[in-house]
Amino acid sequence: MIAENLQKIQSQLPPQVTLVAVSKFHPSDAIREAWAAGQRIFAESRPQELSAKVEALSDCPGLEWQFIGHLQTNKLKMVLPYVSLVQSVDSRHLLDAIEKWAASESGAAGPASVRKVSVLLEMHVALEESKQGFYEEEILDILMQAVADGSYKHIRFCGLMGMATNTDDAEQVRADFTRVRSYMDYLQDLFPELTDFKTLSIGMSADFPIAIECGSTMVRIGSAIFGERG
Ligand SMILES: *Cc1c(COP(=O)(O)O)cnc(C)c1O
Repeated sequence: MIAENLQKIQSQLPPQVTLVAVSKFHPSDAIREAWAAGQRIFAESRPQELSAKVEALSDCPGLEWQFIGHLQTNKLKMVLPYVSLVQSVDSRHLLDAIEKWAASESGAAGPASVRKVSVLLEMHVALEESKQGFYEEEILDILMQAVADGSYKHIRFCGLMGMATNTDDAEQVRADFTRVRSYMDYLQDLFPELTDFKTLSIGMSADFPIAIECGSTMVRIGSAIFGERG
């Protein structure tokens, strides 16, 4: 079932779009099944759960973890050493803490070792106030600071993540995604020196076809692969 779901989704993705399998709340066996079917990138949203699964699946070569949940600064040590990308950086406080952590890790293995953490900045576009994320001006401020004074030497800014309004109204979803896409284009024009700033992570199980039409380069899909979360 999982293998079929993966195949069906992959067949709808253009080659430039990366599929991230969101495995939160699903058991390690389900992840192993997806891995056996060829899926390599998985994302979790809770530090404790990530730790347990990293351990349980350490025998799966090539398996790569990302983090997509709200990350508290006292949990960085549980997450950052194990993930290739933090998609959900949603506050200055968190960004500064990640910088500090990576700076302290750097040099531990000699002066030449610089540890960089790859992140996406989560942009707030949905109508719900409850959703996390930065507003446009905050993202602009962060990137201006990053290129101007090197305050984020240990952070690799890889792009934006966005979640659309939770609604059946396809036009609202399209408007939300278009807003992130447009802002991404604007930032890429403004900061050509940020050569890693390429990933636009938009699209989940219910709305990824629209996200792709809006220029997504990364989709985060859970229930359409693993079924409903228990
Ligand atoms: C849970 C989650 C997803 C996946 O949602 P599905 O509807 O199951 O595809 C994607 N992105 C984030 C940030 C999530 O928390």
